[in-house]
Amino acid sequence: MNRHYLATAVLAVSTLGFSACTNHEALTDQPTDNNVTVVTPQDNNSVHHPKWSYEGNTGPEYWGDVEGASACKIGKQQSPINIKEVTASSTAAPVINYAQSANIRIHDNGHTVVYTPTTEDNAIMVENERYVLKQFHYHTPSEHQIGSQSYPGEIHFVHANSEGNLAVVGIMLQIGEANDVLRVLLNGTELTTQNDDEYTANGVDLSALAPVMPTFYHYDGSLTTPPCSEQVQWFVSKKPLTLASDQFAIMSDLYEGNNRPIQPQGARKVEQLNH
Ligand SMILES: [Zn+2]
Repeated sequence: MNRHYLATAVLAVSTLGFSACTNHEALTDQPTDNNVTVVTPQDNNSVHHPKWSYEGNTGPEYWGDVEGASACKIGKQQSPINIKEVTASSTAAPVINYAQSANIRIHDNGHTVVYTPTTEDNAIMVENERYVLKQFHYHTPSEHQIGSQSYPGEIHFVHANSEGNLAVVGIMLQIGEANDVLRVLLNGTELTTQNDDEYTANGVDLSALAPVMPTFYHYDGSLTTPPCSEQVQWFVSKKPLTLASDQFAIMSDLYEGNNRPIQPQGARKVEQLNH
């Protein structure tokens, strides 16, 4: 095998590996090369994605070169943004309707810690349309800015309607009073990451983690990680959640700097929605 061929083979393997992480279906559609051994991950949840990161030559400015992620580079409705100018709107703010006792599976995906409810009974209503909570995760520091201000962290609650359209609620984290709901989740997070395993936190009061927020900033954006897919409705809460500094330390010790830089707003408007 000559040098050039070896490089091509390595590229093919790493590309296939990435497809397996983002879209399992895509793996079977890939052309196979008989001279290349494709290693199928044993456990998709423990796979750490090597193709992109938050720094160096796999950092945000190169995400558009990742297969299937060209929107990161050429998209015109990318997230996050700096929310500086808002338009008043008569549209109602989303109604958050989360369970008082939810079981949450916790795993570390190599870019953040992902919290996945085991049932579909946590949802938000966006103009009479139901969007089910699929997972939530965090970024430190915040990805969005409000009036050019960053926060120590931001939680993203990712929802999908029956057609698979996404609505994400972003809530800023600010150091202050301890947060009892986060305590349960962070205990589980420590167990998960220390044992490199999965852990399920039971009876979590999600309704208290995302209480009724009086004001949301709404705009059309994207996923903030590859593949940076657009047509994501964003609802960023004006009011932050508080947590104690030792609680925040658990989060930032695991992931610090997993925030995509601010993207151009372009022609998009940000609406202010009130309850
Ligand atoms: Zn996120």
